[in-house]
Amino acid sequence: MSARRTPAGAKAAAGTRAAGMSALLSCRDLAPADLLIRGARVVDPLAKIDAVRDVVVTNGIIRAVGEGLEPPRGARVIEAKGWLLVPGFVDLHTHLRVPGREDEEDIVSGTLAAAAGGYVAVFSMANSDPVVDTASVLQSLRQRAAAEALVPTGFVAAVSRGLRSTQLTEMHELAAAGAVGFSDDGRPLANSQILRRALQYAQITERFVAVHAQDDALMADGVMHEGAVSARLGLSGIPSICESIDVARSLEVAAYEAARLHLCHLSTSASLEHLERARAAGVRVSAEATPHHLTLTDSAVETLDSRFKMNPPLRPEADRKALVEAVKSGLIDCIATDHAPHARHEKEVPFEEAAFGIVGLETAFSVLYGATVLSKELTLPIIVERMSQGPARVAGIAVPTVQPDHAADFCLIDPKASWLVSASKLHSKSANSAWLGQTLKARIKLTLAAGHIAWEDSA
Ligand SMILES: [Zn+2]
Ligand SMILES: [Zn+2]
Repeated sequence: MSARRTPAGAKAAAGTRAAGMSALLSCRDLAPADLLIRGARVVDPLAKIDAVRDVVVTNGIIRAVGEGLEPPRGARVIEAKGWLLVPGFVDLHTHLRVPGREDEEDIVSGTLAAAAGGYVAVFSMANSDPVVDTASVLQSLRQRAAAEALVPTGFVAAVSRGLRSTQLTEMHELAAAGAVGFSDDGRPLANSQILRRALQYAQITERFVAVHAQDDALMADGVMHEGAVSARLGLSGIPSICESIDVARSLEVAAYEAARLHLCHLSTSASLEHLERARAAGVRVSAEATPHHLTLTDSAVETLDSRFKMNPPLRPEADRKALVEAVKSGLIDCIATDHAPHARHEKEVPFEEAAFGIVGLETAFSVLYGATVLSKELTLPIIVERMSQGPARVAGIAVPTVQPDHAADFCLIDPKASWLVSASKLHSKSANSAWLGQTLKARIKLTLAAGHIAWEDSA
């Protein structure tokens, strides 16, 4: 495919689209902040800055980034020496469990967990009960978020009715009602004609379509990665090709339609090879990896602890390494949590019977900082870009950046602080974290989302 010539004014048009998409995110109307943050290490790949700076925020807008800045009248001063100040994170893949499973999570608890994790925007998936497949369900969620969400929250609508991959939803109507994107996540788009038509509609509505790649026949009754560990434990395996075969099919449909495609939670090196080939051939494809797939392997399942049961499953070290390399090279554009809260009775059962999924919003940065930045697998600017600016670009919302005249969408982090992950410390209603009982490095001290203080650490 040849590169299109950029028309004059394209930048302005892109900015207008970002403003339009950002307006689809719903949030409580909270008082805008007035702050001087003094002496933090500002790391912002877009602004091309990695230096100690002061940051002035008035009325929720960044006014100045510099040295020796004076506090505006009435502004609070935060001494942030030794702390990091980075663009706030954007999670394209959160399960807020609304409507229907408010016992596991709701908009208040989920967005508080997000803010505590440094997130300034989250996108909630449609596999709720009922499924977000009609404009009325979507509109009621947006109203609830406007009254309850601590950080701007977008709702992804289903591609197919009831996630059954047989009949397309009214995608035009859902886009008009404020859907930020489309996905049947939790289920694959097994019907290629549905996938094809979804990609066609997504082109017209300018929304992303996110695919949970999975071949159901190969998935069968698998509960963990199929390999040496599953053989040793005698558990049914989920082979790598269960994912990669569907990645290949989805990419082929996207290439044929010359349409945009977003791939959820890639976990295997074979999927990455398909992705790389498609990118090289000009397919407009974006992809995510999760903190757990980037830092854990299937050997964790030896404990038979259901907190290590997720879909796609944890894979061997070679796949984990390939994912880290893909994050480094930019082949993977975003890190997404796939935050999947579950009630205790769904997890505290034998491994084979437990639900798939773990919570991740509150631990994502700390996990990646400890396991990839401090270990020198990845750099801090790369982690920040893939957690913040990369996903914002995929979603088409305003890209968080620490520059004057931008909304204050950033977080302050104490990189030296350690904290124990415990059920009582987590703000999510569910505690099915793979890191429960572990001490993690780096603590989010303050999160400013859309100009207001969404989280402040009291510890
Ligand atoms: Zn999924
Ligand atoms: Zn998911």
